[in-house]
Amino acid sequence: MKFRLFNTQTRTKETVRGEKGKAFGIYCCGPTVYGPAHIGNFRTYVVQDTVVRLLKLLQISFQYIRNITDVDDKTIRNSIAQQQTLSDYVKPWIEKFHNDCKRLNLLPPTAEPRATETIEAQQELIQTLINKGHAYVRDGSVYFRIASFENYGRLSHLDNRVLQTQALNSAGRSNDADEYDREQVADFVLWKAYKPTDGDVFWESPWGRGRPGWHIECSAMSHLYLGQTVDLHTGGVDLCFPHHENEIAQSEAAYGAPFVRQWLHIAHLQVEGQKMSKSLGNLLTLDDLQARGYSPSSVRYALLSGHYRQTLNFTFDLMRSAQSALRKINIYTHALLSQSGINEETFEKRTENTVLPEKRTFLGDFFEALLDDLNVPKALGCLFTFMHQNPSPSKVQTGSLLGEWCAALYALGIEYEELDTDMPTVEIPNDIRALAEQRWAAKQARQFQEADRLRQILTENGWNILDRKDDYVLEPLKGKMPADI
Ligand SMILES: [Zn+2]
Repeated sequence: MKFRLFNTQTRTKETVRGEKGKAFGIYCCGPTVYGPAHIGNFRTYVVQDTVVRLLKLLQISFQYIRNITDVDDKTIRNSIAQQQTLSDYVKPWIEKFHNDCKRLNLLPPTAEPRATETIEAQQELIQTLINKGHAYVRDGSVYFRIASFENYGRLSHLDNRVLQTQALNSAGRSNDADEYDREQVADFVLWKAYKPTDGDVFWESPWGRGRPGWHIECSAMSHLYLGQTVDLHTGGVDLCFPHHENEIAQSEAAYGAPFVRQWLHIAHLQVEGQKMSKSLGNLLTLDDLQARGYSPSSVRYALLSGHYRQTLNFTFDLMRSAQSALRKINIYTHALLSQSGINEETFEKRTENTVLPEKRTFLGDFFEALLDDLNVPKALGCLFTFMHQNPSPSKVQTGSLLGEWCAALYALGIEYEELDTDMPTVEIPNDIRALAEQRWAAKQARQFQEADRLRQILTENGWNILDRKDDYVLEPLKGKMPADI
């Protein structure tokens, strides 16, 4: 089965393929650790995680590298303000990030290099660029000479004039423009000369004391772990320019080989139709959502539910549907386990070690949608249609369905949670219970028309009925949800 992803550079869907005899190399731009990551950041990481899960299901061996930016203007400024060393300052934020990743069930990367731990590799790369005439030194800082790299701007599809304006704007924003004497305003910094405001954060270098710029770390780390060409490079769409454009320029100018085979960019996230920002007070973190009663698994589900190339409007309605959808999947899994007689532990182990079954009798369209440029909305549609059409899988089905079901849950990163612990306690009214009993009796008596009629009445009253081997489960179509903010 082919796995295709949309390549930002060629603007076409391309089959994911690496080099023969080499593990597939993925590089993801990771977090800058000066505070908790917000759900916009996590949308990117959850989508990346799905790619990795699909590679695993397809039995493609991979090297998955995600860096940590632990030195930049913000981390230095905050550590000095809090009178801490840089490493003491970033430590709890790195731990927090790892903890959040775990709660969202994100698979850990193969390696997670940090900017401060790879200074030597970054300096070597800068020296190579100077030697080849692609970089120059000014007052202890080193700049990349954009005019020396012909293909600059090919990823973001912007012409040179627009790039110059954008560079000017971004330089203006960071107050960087007056500090350095660049040949051209679009030239970006590779090594920043030491300033007194950097406190004790500096490294010695052939160009004097200073610290690396942000862009160089990704070029150096990807080379260190994945070699000259990365098979798949991903990140949020806001990184496309200038960050990824600069990574291409640095790596290709230094090594003379194509830097990336395929680029994957994840679209923005909005909250209730608005851009997420500190000033609007709508920067949501995992903790914020958990405090309002939403589990990390439902956050993950909500973040995944839209197509990754479209802006996701994150709303509390979306969270409620995510919770309800997860509950349905959970109830179905529970029924499947009861039917097949395997316990939760065996199911979890099987899910962790699952591969894509060769024969896909039940969920073929689900996997097809996922492998066609991660069409999660379509895949979820297929999954729910399947559950709707097969409300109580027969014993004959469960054997082969179980393999496909494990693979589906693995792909989406959904962990089975034992019923009841996850379920809100909802009282079932007596008349509803009586109707359900009548329906069960009709079904047992093989009066299927009557059973269907009673099921219809239950649905109209807001109740869903799920048949199991010897009994049934009643669940509200819309459960009791925590109040909105
Ligand atoms: Zn990067």
